[in-house]
Amino acid sequence: MADTELRTDPSPHRRSINARPGPMRPNELAPLFASADALSGIGPRTLLLLKKALRLPPGVTTPRVLDLLWHLPTGVIDRRAEPTIAIAVPGTIATLKVRVLKHKPPPRGNDKVPYKIICEDDTGRLELVFFRTERKFIERQLPEGTERYVSGRVESYGEHLQMAHPDYIVAPDARHELPMLEPVYGLTAGLSGKILVKAARQAVARVPAMVEWQDAAWLKARGWPSFMDAIRRLHQPDDSSDVSNGSGPWQRLAYDELLAGQLALALVRQGQKSQRGRPIDGGGRIRARIIAALPFSLTNSQRIALAEISADMAAPHRMLRLLQGDVGSGKTVVALMSMAIAVEAGAQAALMAPTEVLARQHIETIGPLAEKAGLRVGLLTGREKGKGRREVLEKLAGGEIDILIGTHALFQPDVVFHDLAFAVIDEQHRFGVHQRLALQTKGGEGGANVLVMTATPIPRTLLMTHYGDLDVSKLTEKPPGRKPITTKAVPLDTMERLITRIRAQIEEGAQVYWVCPLIESSELSDLAAAEERHAHLAQTFGAAVGLLHGAMGGPDKDATMAAFAENKLKILVSTTVIEVGVNVPNANIMVIEHAERFGIAQLHQLRGRVGRGTRESFCMLLYKAPLGETARQRLEMMERTEDGFLIAEKDLELRGGGEVLGARQSGLPEFRVADVPGFEMLLSAARDDAQMVLNADPRLESARGQKLRHLLYLFECDEAVRLFRAA
Ligand code: ADP
Ligand code: MG
Repeated sequence: MADTELRTDPSPHRRSINARPGPMRPNELAPLFASADALSGIGPRTLLLLKKALRLPPGVTTPRVLDLLWHLPTGVIDRRAEPTIAIAVPGTIATLKVRVLKHKPPPRGNDKVPYKIICEDDTGRLELVFFRTERKFIERQLPEGTERYVSGRVESYGEHLQMAHPDYIVAPDARHELPMLEPVYGLTAGLSGKILVKAARQAVARVPAMVEWQDAAWLKARGWPSFMDAIRRLHQPDDSSDVSNGSGPWQRLAYDELLAGQLALALVRQGQKSQRGRPIDGGGRIRARIIAALPFSLTNSQRIALAEISADMAAPHRMLRLLQGDVGSGKTVVALMSMAIAVEAGAQAALMAPTEVLARQHIETIGPLAEKAGLRVGLLTGREKGKGRREVLEKLAGGEIDILIGTHALFQPDVVFHDLAFAVIDEQHRFGVHQRLALQTKGGEGGANVLVMTATPIPRTLLMTHYGDLDVSKLTEKPPGRKPITTKAVPLDTMERLITRIRAQIEEGAQVYWVCPLIESSELSDLAAAEERHAHLAQTFGAAVGLLHGAMGGPDKDATMAAFAENKLKILVSTTVIEVGVNVPNANIMVIEHAERFGIAQLHQLRGRVGRGTRESFCMLLYKAPLGETARQRLEMMERTEDGFLIAEKDLELRGGGEVLGARQSGLPEFRVADVPGFEMLLSAARDDAQMVLNADPRLESARGQKLRHLLYLFECDEAVRLFRAA
């Protein structure tokens, strides 16, 4: 999304080791962490192409040998058919042994005519065909009178058989160089598969003959190969069935990746729990004042969450809790009340939002309440500069600010708290673990307790994968009095009718969000689309239509948001910048254009912007017909329910095996290997395994523990690695 002034590394437990060189990384792994251009066949140009083709972990800018290892093939080309020419089947891939009879180069200067080479074996004739090829190359590769193996797709052309641009041409004594089962890799324009095949071979050869971390009997029982075998069989398959994410070798590596993740999480968690926090017991003085100032009473869910949070804070270990609550479930009040606990105890609290817009909004909603309760609130974002910023910092260090609200600007090293005891991170999925840690270290003695809040309902599996046994509180009910949102999916070409209805609604006091589509690359930019819609709606509604997009400067954004919040603007056209957290209770209509291009979770987030006031609310999903099957199911689900948790589950189901984890959408890191069928079973096994390992060997010091450290390095779970390194 465009609004991210803080496109941060979303990965909670993985950070590249090469971003922070690890002196403790075992030497035998060093060859894998070398830059990929250490391999023969890879120069600076190819390195750039690799950067595009490989999925590099966050923070890694130069592809390394390791990245080639984890770039697993998507399939196999089977060249094992070795027919004679007479029985070769047109349309298939074959490897043929032929004699080169005669070259028939095209007339000079006419490169429309292909270069042909007549070949034969004892059974027939085969023409090799090259278009626009360098003559010298061909003459060198295929001298007349020699024997050659050629491998490629056989075609029939008129009377005879031909092969255009064979994939491989080798002399009989180099036959072993032919990859009879050739792995096929994800590529990018300009990068050839051959280069990857060759590079991957070398990468595999660099894997040290390292000791296995899995028990041999256990592997045997599962029918899984050793680590070395697994890696080799995927990059140099003996059997085409190996190259599939359900195969033994692949499943084994998937398990390894999950195990690494689970170990890392458990280690982080273990480190966290063992760090003594400072028990904080506020007494309730300020909270009572806040409650008195609230125009409503807390929901049961809010009460329970607060009880859980205050128990955490009173406990002697450091708190790390996730507060999950659907959009509009009232997380902000919970945050404020929790922060008040810290202030009651004489300490400070911080609230960090993912965007400038949200930080300012928090100030607006929290400010008045805080004031009534006697809390001193400060704001710090990227926009506070110079004198204003200095003042905030001084007050903060002097303890004259109780609650600091801001963006990632709170991480800056010169931000020093007098005594930070509690930090709330809103919309967690945009921040990574290391940032969480950074904020924690700003806490005084005992570090800060941390509450992370997310509106994205994260399915259990995903939570467990990425957070392990993080404590979770859920807001399961919405504040009372909310009216249901009527959701309807309608085709785009009924837009004019919709505009007419919206005009009637606006006359009755309605306000409208109008979200413009994510744009496919071939079309307009997001911005252009939003501008176009803005101009179109302005024809009907004039100056009552505002425009909000990510390229706007901060003050302009604020002014536009404020005008909408003050009901001066009736319609707010925007790109997806409004996705998170914006609260304008009077807005009651949400229009989403090209709804079929959005994920269901995103649609749900957007819809959550309405239905917050007393007015009846609508969400109109404009789609371009015809709808694909998945898109149709998504929109139907939206029409059917407002329950974020149900929607999250459906989301998972619709994504199916291919994108089991939905990590990208949740802003969580993606797996390199573990996106496989049977994922959930592997995960829970890995989780148990990690528990067992750490119960017996909490610091990974046993013989197996030492080997498991290799595993952590290989999957770059260095957040965890650092923990046992530091200790
Ligand atoms: P979110 O969980 O999406 O951050 P907010 O904290 O922004 O939700 O709350 C949404 C709206 O609900 C706000 O206007 C807030 O004042 C209101 N609200 C929160 N808790 C209650 C409650 N217990 N009763 C009534 N309204 C509430
Ligand atoms: Mg919120």
